[in-house]
Amino acid sequence: MLVDNRKIVVMGVANKWSIAWGISKKLLDNDATVIFTYLNDRSKRSIEKLVKDHGYNNYSLVKLDVTDDDDYESAFNKIKEDYNVIDGLVHCVAHAKKEELDGDFVNTSREGFLMAQNISAYSLVKASKYASELMDGHGEIICLTYLGGERVVLNYNVMGVAKASLESSVKYLAHDLGKHNIRVNAISAGPIKTLAAKGIGEFNKLLNGFLEKAPMERLIDHEDLGNTAMYLLSDLSSGVTGETIHVDCGYSILGY
Ligand code: NAD
Repeated sequence: MLVDNRKIVVMGVANKWSIAWGISKKLLDNDATVIFTYLNDRSKRSIEKLVKDHGYNNYSLVKLDVTDDDDYESAFNKIKEDYNVIDGLVHCVAHAKKEELDGDFVNTSREGFLMAQNISAYSLVKASKYASELMDGHGEIICLTYLGGERVVLNYNVMGVAKASLESSVKYLAHDLGKHNIRVNAISAGPIKTLAAKGIGEFNKLLNGFLEKAPMERLIDHEDLGNTAMYLLSDLSSGVTGETIHVDCGYSILGY
């Protein structure tokens, strides 16, 4: 009953390991309708296979490369045409050049810096603008961030700065959209093996370090993230906005 009949746009499913897919499964299992945005034909085919294999029917697909302004226009026009009103937006999109996710941050190129900001942070602002115009009376927007936006995490570099920008954007968006009863929050996830994570230098070392220290003595999984997404996308979190919730088995509380 938490999200049933809600229409929720999910950005960022690439494959079955994607955090966005974990959240989508949770939503679809709880009778929400999911409108997937996809980057290219490969991700489109991947999503089509996933939904088919799981027997889901309450979904649709629309192309949205977040670097292309025309895509936002056509994607949200199509969504308006098909659904008229939406209830939520799940932003799970990030990208940086692989060479910027290794070594010293001081070597970051202007192009790499701007690309990470554009794809990983500005896309939330732009998508929120379009999505909020289709929300009526209420709306919930969530995005995914990481501890590397608050503290220095080895090799996270340019993506850490993009996550800081994303987390700050959450607060400004929450401020602006609050008057329309639209809430905006972030989930700060512990490390989880996905395609995007593979690009981070020595990611396995980071995972092992997390496992060694996390108070709950385990890694997080898609279920953990799906549960918090359900909370933030439903009325259970009414009154919560502009927050970043850590779903990281307690790792971020540590000072050692
Ligand atoms: P993922 O690779 O499965 O997802 C990243 C998505 O971004 C992909 O679907 C990709 O197609 C999409 N994308 C990249 N460039 C795009 C563009 N120009 N237009 C549209 N889409 C584009 O990896 P993931 O780990 O599931 O990442 C989802 C989110 O979770 C990201 O914001 C990531 O930073 C965040 N996150 C991941 C971890 C982790 O350890 N995996 C931890 C904390 C936060």
